[in-house]
Amino acid sequence: MSHTCIVYGCNSKSSLHLFPTNDERRNDWTRFVQRTRANWVGPSVYSAVCSLHFTDECFANYSEVKMGFSSRLRLLNSAVPSVYPSGTGVGSEAESKLQVDTVVSKSV
Ligand SMILES: [Zn+2]
Repeated sequence: MSHTCIVYGCNSKSSLHLFPTNDERRNDWTRFVQRTRANWVGPSVYSAVCSLHFTDECFANYSEVKMGFSSRLRLLNSAVPSVYPSGTGVGSEAESKLQVDTVVSKSV
């Protein structure tokens, strides 16, 4: 089983972060993913969310990585994903004026 970001519309395979063990935090993460895939039942031990869905403040060493001192982003314990991939139309305030120029035509 290959590790891929489970957020709908993302498919990133790099910089993945496993779900936290803390129940409350885990629920926050689950809710985030469910906004992109309503039928998703919850995380397995393999479920991971990539760093694209976190804001800079969610990382303990964001500036270090940005400056090249470290190559792996480390999430804070309190980090909760909040950034949706563009094109899903989820989480944007302007869902009524969806931009159609980012339509993804993927054959699965
Ligand atoms: Zn992702």
